[in-house]
Amino acid sequence: MELTSPSSKDSIAEALVPISSFAPVSPDIEQLSPDIEQLSPDILLLPGKLPQHYLQYLSQHPVLHSGDLEKAAGAITQAAAHILKIDRASLWLCSAPDAFVLFDRYDRALDTHDKGTLLKPRDHVPYFETLSSRTELLVEDISQLTSSISHPISYLIQTGLIDQWSGAFLELPIRCRGVVVGALWCECQQTRRWTALENANATSIALLAATAVDSQQRSLLIETLNQQHRQLRRETIEREQAEDAWQESQRFIQGIIDASTNILYVDSFGDGSNFYVNRWIENVLGYEPHEMQQLGARYLEQLVHADERQLLIQERRRLSTIKDGEVVENEYRFRHRQGHWRWLLCRETVFQRDYEGRPLQVFGTATDITKRKRAEVALQDFNQELERLAKMDGLTQVANRRCFDEYIEQTWESHSSKASLSLILCDIDYFKSFNDTYGHQAGDLCLKQVAKAIEQSVGRSTDLVARYGGEEFAVILPDTSVIGAERVAEKIRATVRLLDIVHSESKVSDRITLSLGIASISSTQKIDLDRLIAAADQGLYNAKSNGRDCFCVGEIEY
Ligand code: GH3
Ligand code: MG
Ligand code: MG
Repeated sequence: MELTSPSSKDSIAEALVPISSFAPVSPDIEQLSPDIEQLSPDILLLPGKLPQHYLQYLSQHPVLHSGDLEKAAGAITQAAAHILKIDRASLWLCSAPDAFVLFDRYDRALDTHDKGTLLKPRDHVPYFETLSSRTELLVEDISQLTSSISHPISYLIQTGLIDQWSGAFLELPIRCRGVVVGALWCECQQTRRWTALENANATSIALLAATAVDSQQRSLLIETLNQQHRQLRRETIEREQAEDAWQESQRFIQGIIDASTNILYVDSFGDGSNFYVNRWIENVLGYEPHEMQQLGARYLEQLVHADERQLLIQERRRLSTIKDGEVVENEYRFRHRQGHWRWLLCRETVFQRDYEGRPLQVFGTATDITKRKRAEVALQDFNQELERLAKMDGLTQVANRRCFDEYIEQTWESHSSKASLSLILCDIDYFKSFNDTYGHQAGDLCLKQVAKAIEQSVGRSTDLVARYGGEEFAVILPDTSVIGAERVAEKIRATVRLLDIVHSESKVSDRITLSLGIASISSTQKIDLDRLIAAADQGLYNAKSNGRDCFCVGEIEY
């Protein structure tokens, strides 16, 4: 039997509204707390009461407003059966678009309730397609309908949903705010005429059923709203706690940064401008963090010492080639706001890259190493001074014997085969008797003056004057031929003479004089260094023998 057509299915779907989707109009939570619990207890089945009294009691019964629709359905069917004096009252509600469910059916004779039968609107099209348009459905004698298939309840009778009793049937649609959400069935075993009063009472009961549905939906909505409210509060508290924790961790990190005794900074790799710098910068360079940012592009290049600018530019470029975690480390001088220089040890690494791995930001730490640098310079100066002192003769302030040995060795080794080298040994004449006559202190003073005179007599920066021992001095003359050496020797002799130091006991003059021995090798000669010194010694010996206050050239023995 074909009972449905697509158009009639659609119209049923539109006409029936599930109670779950029947949302009450925005209830005010504050006003939704009726004191229904305080109303009369079970007032049904009071003997001798008029139907209007039952209706009144039912309308005030707490269960109707409690939101418990199943209990309300039981009260409604029971009341309907007694008020209308019918054999069975059933309350059907649309619980889903395609489910018409028997919420409660009360059998007056047995005083029993049952429920749960399910009607699928698409299986009972004749019944459902006109449900929403009906105000009521009155059948006084069901037996008359069994053959009429077009009647809304014919199929329900055939399928046994409406009992095989050949009695009367009254159906009232239940409407909530204009839409049908269910139906109230009143069934009698006997045929019956339905009076206008009974009809009106049945309509009132259907209205009360609608109130119960509305009440349940309100309760559900209130519960949902309360749940949402609780959820919202929970989320708000959690968010606030998360926010507090985040702020606490921010404060902790900021505390570490503020307590740092290093400069921490983040620069843009692109234009070298400062993105972030901690407050320690002020202690080191005198600028506040925002002032560093105001310096704009390449601010470090603006502040770095000219001697280190190229290094800084070069090292910043090098950052683009390093791997994550690698560090570029250098020392630079930066200008303090007040003009002086501070040495900083900068350690930089790539902080952020673009999607192709190119650096976007540079993270760096800068440690003030000015004190260490100053100490380093002082140590360097000290070492140089030590070196100088180690090579110097304390009395005469010319090079000492050790320095002479080193220098002549070095000169000898680097001496090219084409260059010549000369050596002059100078010895003060009758110096023993000078000491004896004028005392040791005067002797020392004389030695100093003679050393100075010798130094004044040599001109080239490569020439070296050294105290060779006692009252003997040596002069190393690189790239100097014997003729040149003779000229220097004569100049030394004359300069010392000009010192005009009285030496009454000298047998050669009444002033301090020198005897000098010269040795010289020319380019092609290949001899030992000792031979050169021995030759100079020989020259000196000859000068002494020749009467002193003169120079002699010693012959090198081959
Ligand atoms: P000659 O003309 O032969 O060189 O005679 P001389 O007296 O200079 O000879 P000699 O080498 O014997 O004497 C060197 C003297 O130089 C011995 C010492 O009294 C003196 N003398 C050596 N070193 C120093 C020094 O550091 N200070 C002083 N005051 N005298 C020194
Ligand atoms: Mg001597
Ligand atoms: Mg002497």
